[in-house]
Amino acid sequence: MQGHFVTSMPQPAKSLSWLSIFASLAAMPLHAQDAKAIVERAIAAIHAQDIQSIEINGRGFDALFGQAYDGDSAWPRFALTRFSLAINYQDNFLRDERTRVQAQNPPLGGGNQPIGEQRQTLLFRDGYAWSLGRGGKPSPAQLERDLRSASEARQTEILFTPQGFLQAALHANPTVHTEKIADKTVTLISFITANKIALEGTLDEHDHLQRIRTWVGAPVLGDVVLDSVFSEYQDFDGILFPRHIVQSEGGYPLLDVTVTSVKANSLVSSEVPEGIRQAVTTEPPAIKPQPYGEGVWIIPGEDYHASKSILVEFKDYLLVVEAPDGEERSLAVIDAVHKLVPGKPIRYIVNTHTHFDHSGGLRTYAAEGAAIVTWEGNVSYYRQVWSNPYTIHPDHLAKSKRTPLFEGLVGSRTFTDGNQEVIVFHYAGNFHNPGMLAIYLPRQRALIEADSFNPQPDPRDPPTAIPNLVQFYGAVQKLGLDVDQIIPIHGRVTPFEEGLTDIEAHKTSQLWQ
Ligand SMILES: [Zn+2]
Repeated sequence: MQGHFVTSMPQPAKSLSWLSIFASLAAMPLHAQDAKAIVERAIAAIHAQDIQSIEINGRGFDALFGQAYDGDSAWPRFALTRFSLAINYQDNFLRDERTRVQAQNPPLGGGNQPIGEQRQTLLFRDGYAWSLGRGGKPSPAQLERDLRSASEARQTEILFTPQGFLQAALHANPTVHTEKIADKTVTLISFITANKIALEGTLDEHDHLQRIRTWVGAPVLGDVVLDSVFSEYQDFDGILFPRHIVQSEGGYPLLDVTVTSVKANSLVSSEVPEGIRQAVTTEPPAIKPQPYGEGVWIIPGEDYHASKSILVEFKDYLLVVEAPDGEERSLAVIDAVHKLVPGKPIRYIVNTHTHFDHSGGLRTYAAEGAAIVTWEGNVSYYRQVWSNPYTIHPDHLAKSKRTPLFEGLVGSRTFTDGNQEVIVFHYAGNFHNPGMLAIYLPRQRALIEADSFNPQPDPRDPPTAIPNLVQFYGAVQKLGLDVDQIIPIHGRVTPFEEGLTDIEAHKTSQLWQ
């Protein structure tokens, strides 16, 4: 588990924080007029003076942030048979349409692989972000996987086009300086938008934008670079646009697109749907733990698919399974746990696997003093990525400077006080992640698992990722566990037999060869 992230990112002191952006503004080497003149020259170089809107079509790959197979792997990739981006700079409007199909064989990592055909339409206008579901029904957009708001992410996507970046730079008091990179002198343009997005663009010797980057405070990884690299500028319909775009976050590609057509000034746009405009942002709903057998509570996520946590009470301490999403969620769950069982410390937090929707809140438990029980192979990964700077969103662990406590698990481990019992075991060989842990509660005859069995709301619908379900049930049966119900981290509590029925019904149609 050699971490890739630290070595692949620029040095923190040079570029990795808001502070350093401001520091580079302070060391402004060029006058404001000179900076504007350089931006204007770059706009002219790609004939972008009169561009009000742009439509880009292409194909390639996209990938899921935080869902890597392991700490050495890139984000899992999916093939884009259609990628269509429409931006109206005047209206601050964006439409991102994608058709995505399975790419990887074997289907390693998260994302419910192998997938069928997925269609996605994401929209944004003037701070409102929504997506279109089946039948074109709009619904408010959810948080991004790096926990940015959808609104911030889509605003950034508009700024992550050469035309969008340069036009915004012109109106934002940019600073410009030059740097020598590999014997070539490049020009760097930096600015911060009115809604506080810090950006830096690199111009090559032809005044073409080679790269745009910004900085994100992500769960698990801390401060990361989000960047877009442009190459092979060519003439599309009278404007210059890169034929190849590679967007990366945390050192690995998120999007890799070969552009096939670019159309300017068709003035594509759309009004914000009334229901979206009126949707008020509410506080997250109060956490309502549900009792499950003696000394066990299920703490549901915010919706059907969101990750849950499970609390187990022992005589002298508490054990929690799963710390999903991020610090905000962990603080709310920890608060609910202490109200439910006052006076006992959370001694252990069990982590089913490293994906960020299962591990993004671990650091908060570490700051509380809980030991992190995770597969032994993950310990060096967490130690490495957790040593990254956390300056964009400093969390409790960063502020406390506490050294997190890990208890690496090999094989299995039993927690018992003579009455309550929890058996945590590693099942190797799953496509989803090499370090999968499941948690067996013998008294309750319940088995907690993540992502190997994600039952759909309607039991008649097939679950996703059948190959992982088959592998997981094989491991459980080999251990001879007596299981009444599965408590999945995503989705409803399910009779063990439902998984067997699903395997029987779908194994031939969905098993990956
Ligand atoms: Zn996962």
